[in-house]
Amino acid sequence: MIPYCNLHTHTTYCDGKSSPREIVQAALSQGLSTLGFSGHSYTAFDPSYCMSKESTGAYIAEIRSLQAEFQGRLNICLGVEQDYFAESAEYDYDFTIGAVHYVKKDGRYWDVDESAEKICSTVKQCYRGDFYAYARDYYSLVADLPRRTGCQIVAHLDLLTKFNEKSPFFNEEDPRYLQAAFPAIAAICGTGAFFEVNTGAISRGYRSLPYPSVPLLKEIRRQDGKIILGSDSHHADTLTFAFTEALDLVRSCGFRNLMVRTSLGFEEMPI
Ligand SMILES: [Zn+2]
Ligand SMILES: [Zn+2]
Repeated sequence: MIPYCNLHTHTTYCDGKSSPREIVQAALSQGLSTLGFSGHSYTAFDPSYCMSKESTGAYIAEIRSLQAEFQGRLNICLGVEQDYFAESAEYDYDFTIGAVHYVKKDGRYWDVDESAEKICSTVKQCYRGDFYAYARDYYSLVADLPRRTGCQIVAHLDLLTKFNEKSPFFNEEDPRYLQAAFPAIAAICGTGAFFEVNTGAISRGYRSLPYPSVPLLKEIRRQDGKIILGSDSHHADTLTFAFTEALDLVRSCGFRNLMVRTSLGFEEMPI
């Protein structure tokens, strides 16, 4: 049996809706063996969604205390979701999830996942309406995530497609798009970092399938990349949202193994 594990979890320390203790209780009742917390790292230019510098210390203290309290019942890990442009983490976390939430153009940071309207105006203003040029900039940052953040896990590989299902901007099977994404997959495979199969946009109603898309998953498989499930949960109720469906999907893309976190560290398990 696959140990039930989720490392991508947000709390009220950043933009989540549940406290760490509520999430621990949910993890126990849902039968998780490992629960990782991954608060958004402090991002000076956009404090709206992340932990503050002050609250990061309180977050670390509370998760470490829960870790000790629940030892033997639940493997709790302290992590961070480190944005590409965030200040570098000053703490030695148990794991790091690297993520690109912005592109930088003309000296400014432009949100990748705030709203369909905002992306359209970014692409119009910065890329003369060329979504493929935007995708090239986005994936060049993604490719560099392991070096920049030291992450073991690359979050939501194709976050730039968050609104593409409901308000299509571009064709995700167009060679111009795939030629932007595939080199990033190759670069990440070369570092040994894992690709997160992220169900967060399904639980929040933006997408019907996880990140990454099927063509990208198949390329990850072809390049022998490793995958890990993550719910990107912002509420205690969504800790393992759509994990069963995500497992079926990755099996249909040819994957036979999955990374999980146990008390021994990261391990590869057959699925
Ligand atoms: Zn994220
Ligand atoms: Zn997240």
